Amino acid sequence: MAGAADDFGHIVGSRPLGVLAAHSVETVRELVAFAGPRGLPVAARGGGHALYGQGQAHGGYVVDMRPLDEVRRRPGDGALSAGAGAPWSEVVRVALAEGLTPPVIPDHLGTSVGGVLSTGGFGATSHRRGLVADWVRDLDVVTGTGELLTCSREQHADLFDAVLAGLGQCALIVRATLRLLPAPARVRRFRLYHSTPESYLTDQRRLCRDGRFSHVCGQARPAVGGAWTYMIEAVAPHTPELPSDDDLLIGDLGHDRDTEEIEDLPYEEFLHRPEREERLLRATGEWQRPHPWLSLLLPEDTAAAFVPDALADPAQRGLRTCGAVQLRPLSGRTLRAPLLRRPPDERLCLLTLMRTAPPTDAAAVRELVAANRALYERARAVGGVLHPVSAVPMTPADWRGHFGPAWTDLVRAKDRHDPHRILTRGYGLWP
Ligand SMILES: Cc1cc2nc3c(=O)[nH]c(=O)nc-3n(C[C@H](O)[C@H](O)[C@H](O)COP(=O)(O)OP(=O)(O)OC[C@H]3O[C@@H](n4cnc5c(N)ncnc54)[C@H](O)[C@@H]3O)c2cc1C
Repeated sequence: MAGAADDFGHIVGSRPLGVLAAHSVETVRELVAFAGPRGLPVAARGGGHALYGQGQAHGGYVVDMRPLDEVRRRPGDGALSAGAGAPWSEVVRVALAEGLTPPVIPDHLGTSVGGVLSTGGFGATSHRRGLVADWVRDLDVVTGTGELLTCSREQHADLFDAVLAGLGQCALIVRATLRLLPAPARVRRFRLYHSTPESYLTDQRRLCRDGRFSHVCGQARPAVGGAWTYMIEAVAPHTPELPSDDDLLIGDLGHDRDTEEIEDLPYEEFLHRPEREERLLRATGEWQRPHPWLSLLLPEDTAAAFVPDALADPAQRGLRTCGAVQLRPLSGRTLRAPLLRRPPDERLCLLTLMRTAPPTDAAAVRELVAANRALYERARAVGGVLHPVSAVPMTPADWRGHFGPAWTDLVRAKDRHDPHRILTRGYGLWP
């Protein structure tokens, strides 16, 4: 029970009436059908990586989705079927056993299929292939009225669109069919360091445009004298028979040649890359601390000014010592799920500030959450959009603004599929 009243953020905690283990789809369906007419909140919990209570159900029920973890290959059709509670590590394991891979994979493989699809899901291939959710063929879901439905582009398309990146508002996902592509066996990884955001973004833009790398992500890292360096991490498939040509791949880029790092590794090892860091953070205790993280989708044109400003903000100074800053390049046209809100621009940058706060200092945590809110407002003023996995207090009016023209469709889908408004209240979308 205590686990369901907390999450990876360790900022918001609210006790549910009960926790139900989803041993079958029917148990989930029965619980939602019971809770609806009684107005009892219900939220799904997968990997528990929410940052600000988004998966909690104050005075209601948390459904622990982890027992719904079956992942199996669908013979002959380049797809696999995954229970919503399965971690991405299991999806990856089953796909790689057949020489296949999901086209987009979240960095953290301990997140659940349902949790990631409900927020959209970004990965290192998102600059070319969009969201994890954009590669879903169909979903089995339990709506807020306790109805079990299969939805896809062809069947209950309105529900499909309302569920993918839909923040769990209209239905709980119980199973998904995920499309797969051939996987490389090995990859060559480049880490390329830039001293200015301008040169970093120029290269990111070039890499997004010509698609020479399969995976592109990046980070800002603290440097001496209070400065930051900007690192592009880019990956290309690589085999001894068809080695990648380094000069073709990075010869025309503007990074510092003396510090470039080039390494060959199995694709599977690349996918598991965050685990080393996680082990370290667990050992130092940082993994268990509060995580007031913030994630913003910025028009790329604004990033060269916005990012250094944000990093220089005194309220963000903790990022230099206990945190990480991700800068993911994205192309607007590849992001298809309508409820993933984003700036209208074609070139985008996903900025994620991942930092910890002292475990026993509630005032410090409150300050960081307030700093997140202030930075979100500054981002909004330059056309930025919140990625809702963040630790930011939002009012129903903020959400209405966030969804913009998609709000009417969301309200319509909510009225139809969750008329009692019991699902996933932790986001605070409704008064
Ligand atoms: C260390 C870390 C790394 C991350 N890396 C990435 C990344 O690379 N890419 C990325 O896109 N995101 C990333 N995230 C964000 C993460 O993907 C989202 O927070 C995701 O929602 C977490 O899913 P979960 O199952 O672990 O979390 P949970 O806390 O269990 O769920 C998160 C939210 O999804 C809802 N939910 C869970 N299961 C279902 C379901 N079956 N049906 C409907 N709603 C459901 C919950 O109610 C809650 O609102 C990361 C987060 C952390 C903490």
